[in-house]
Amino acid sequence: TSFFGSGQGGGPGKVGGRVPVALRQRRLRIVVTGGAGFVGSHLVDKLIDRGNDVIVIDNFFTGRKQNVVHHFGNARFELIRHDVVEPILLEVDQIYHLACPASPVHYKYNPVKTIKTNVMGTLNMLGLAKRIGARFLLTSTSEVYGDPLEHPQKETYWGNVNPIGERSCYDEGKRTAETLAMDYHRGADVEVRIARIFNTYGPRMCLDDGRVVSNFVAQAIRKEPLTVYGDGKQTRSFQYVSDLVDGLVALMEGEHVGPFNLGNPGEFTMLELAEVVKETIDSSATIEFKPNTADDPHKRKPDISKAKELLNWEPKIPLREGLPLMVNDFRNRILNEDEGKGL
Ligand code: NAD
Ligand code: UDP
Ligand code: UDP
Repeated sequence: TSFFGSGQGGGPGKVGGRVPVALRQRRLRIVVTGGAGFVGSHLVDKLIDRGNDVIVIDNFFTGRKQNVVHHFGNARFELIRHDVVEPILLEVDQIYHLACPASPVHYKYNPVKTIKTNVMGTLNMLGLAKRIGARFLLTSTSEVYGDPLEHPQKETYWGNVNPIGERSCYDEGKRTAETLAMDYHRGADVEVRIARIFNTYGPRMCLDDGRVVSNFVAQAIRKEPLTVYGDGKQTRSFQYVSDLVDGLVALMEGEHVGPFNLGNPGEFTMLELAEVVKETIDSSATIEFKPNTADDPHKRKPDISKAKELLNWEPKIPLREGLPLMVNDFRNRILNEDEGKGL
């Protein structure tokens, strides 16, 4: 007899001879915290496209309804305005936990709130996962490696992080979130997955979040100089958002806990990035040097051999292909802003 019973058997959940709708349709139900944000909203698009039921939890600190408005009216989509620092009761199969401000400008705005989100928010989502037996994926960050003394960074590297600096609320917050995930895994058998995400860009990034790609692209469109901090020789590796979303889903669906680096190994100095932005948007754009921020990592590049081998995943979109894909979205939003619509 199947789970739903056959004919007369009176299987589980049979009420008055009829199987309740909730039990008949065993579609995957998935929570995405931070689902109204940049990465979260692209993940939601993919999950809805695949036919999953998706519940977004977001407090709209950095996320926007506009990022998910195209799903309003779809019965498989739900949006809950909720702060993950507070407990919540839900019944789902999987939890993608993304809620957390991600850009330095946003996470430094209220550092204590950033720590609460990372620690209490992650604790609540792990408590939820434990109670309902859901699989839990944490979006951690390459920042757990701090200003790395190993290059490129492998998952085995423990990092070089300042515990009392301006970035610590984020770096140490994410490190604690990883610790919590592993402790719930070992102590309470929660199925956890940990992704360490490297710099990611694409449509729907916040326009003024201060990150280098959004800054340069917006500056080039607005005909302002591109602001390079420090000498511009520091490096980052930039991943297009659809590659990341594919990696997150592969990790969630796979059998390995991680942590896994998810990033594009193509490494660029900020001056090189400025050149790519000029080539893509406006070859006459100029560069303006500004002082760098405290604790800025000098270089960062993921070693992704582990994800390649165990998740069969690697990024497909190089910077020169990905950058043009975000320009229209930025142009439209900048235009709307100028017209006072502020989308
Ligand atoms: P984002 O700021 O666009 O999205 C974060 C979302 O979380 C927003 O919608 C925001 O409103 C929501 N949020 C923040 N605090 C919350 C709270 N207390 N309760 C409920 N919702 C809350 O950032 P993103 O770039 O989409 O990042 C998503 C996740 O990926 C974050 O956890 C971030 O740390 C991680 N990450 C991103 C990058 C990147 O380059 N984008 C790199 C490393 C890690
Ligand atoms: N939690 C939640 N939703 C749930 C179950 C738990 O938000 O469905 C929260 C709960 O309020 C607690 C946290 O998750 O603050 C950790 O829960 P757990 O059961 O692991 O720990 P305890 O409640 O025993 O401290
Ligand atoms: N950066 C820059 N100009 C900007 C914004 C950032 O040169 O307008 C530099 C910044 O100093 C850092 C790099 O770009 O070295 C990446 O910064 P971002 O905030 O995007 O990401 P993170 O430091 O978190 O990797």
